[in-house]
Amino acid sequence: MGDPLHDAGGQGHPAPSLVSTPSQAPLQRVAVFCGSNFGHSSHYDEATRALGRALGERGIGLVYGGTHMGLMGVLADAALEAGAEVTGIINRRLHDRGHLHTGLTRHEIVADMRVRKARMGELADAFIALPGGLGTLEELFEAATLTQLGDHHGRAAKACGALNGGGFFDPMRALLDRAVAEGFMKSAHNDMIVMSADPHQLLDALAGWQAPVVNKWITPSQGTGS
Ligand code: AMP
Repeated sequence: MGDPLHDAGGQGHPAPSLVSTPSQAPLQRVAVFCGSNFGHSSHYDEATRALGRALGERGIGLVYGGTHMGLMGVLADAALEAGAEVTGIINRRLHDRGHLHTGLTRHEIVADMRVRKARMGELADAFIALPGGLGTLEELFEAATLTQLGDHHGRAAKACGALNGGGFFDPMRALLDRAVAEGFMKSAHNDMIVMSADPHQLLDALAGWQAPVVNKWITPSQGTGS
């Protein structure tokens, strides 16, 4: 497969889910979802900077929503400063309101948020969520849902993770544990969202990630593996 950036037309869990030895092709680009606000704690700012730096140190490109706002701007600045290529995919409405970060390596203006998510997904080898609100959580869950269904652009499954600085994602994990316990998802699909507070450990785990070999559906006679 060619490089979609340059192709013409450009269209409380145990450690086992953290595989620390990269076994597959190195990550070229990671899409990061994070708050367009800053959050109240300096933990979030620090975690965001640490991820931006880690991407630059590893030569991994950042794909993100393209704005200078909140943690999104912090992330882009840290990644650029560390030498990462940063691609912003922004929708026309936010662009016209002046939300574009003006120092990016490149940006694309797309029709709306849906097209934007699809384009980010097309460009990225893996997805990471940092702390954020509805937009961030929705984007992470969509990426994980497409992985669960084996329906990502160009590749069936792509690794998804969350950088759990300050324990921000612990309640999300608790909710997913509940969904497993109540028979709405399999534990393999819960474990599939990799979480770590350390950006390098998280990136190693995403690079070495293997898709679970279970399908999504739970028959009444099956357990969920919880
Ligand atoms: P939220 O977590 O609700 O602040 O939303 C952040 C997520 O939604 C980001 O990952 C973006 O993809 C998208 N988003 C929300 N607000 C903006 C904005 N002003 N500019 C660009 N993307 C945004």
